[in-house]
Amino acid sequence: MPPSEPDATWAKQALRDAALRATAARVAVLKLLGSMGIPMSHAEVVEALTEFGFDQSTLFRCLNEIADAGLVSRLDLGDQTRRFELRKMGEKVEFTHPHFMCVDCGELTCMEDFSVQISPSRGPRRDKLGTITEIMIRGHCGNCFPRGR
Ligand SMILES: [Zn+2]
Ligand SMILES: [Zn+2]
Repeated sequence: MPPSEPDATWAKQALRDAALRATAARVAVLKLLGSMGIPMSHAEVVEALTEFGFDQSTLFRCLNEIADAGLVSRLDLGDQTRRFELRKMGEKVEFTHPHFMCVDCGELTCMEDFSVQISPSRGPRRDKLGTITEIMIRGHCGNCFPRGR
């Protein structure tokens, strides 16, 4: 779990715990994902870190390395954009929390404070289904379609 102000010390420690060398780019990417607290695409990470002068392929590699090490999850939310989201430490569940995507503006929100229960079906049908990695919920966000109107 990142601290409220994810800093370089926290990022370096998290990388070390994952047996990764704390390179400047990895530290920057981890700090960014920790402070944003939302899933970000490679393009968004590149844009947010422009001032540091990392090249795009370095950042792409970083994202995949920290995802492979289990520090972040890869999300495919069906809009052709792969996003990366910081994992809560020790999270070993199949999927983390549901995500809400606005069908009007595409804004993505983490639904960490909602509880969605999927009752597992067991047996061959469940096994055949495979691994659940994301729960996607779609609708109209509060900006596009305020509730109670
Ligand atoms: Zn919207
Ligand atoms: Zn999320």
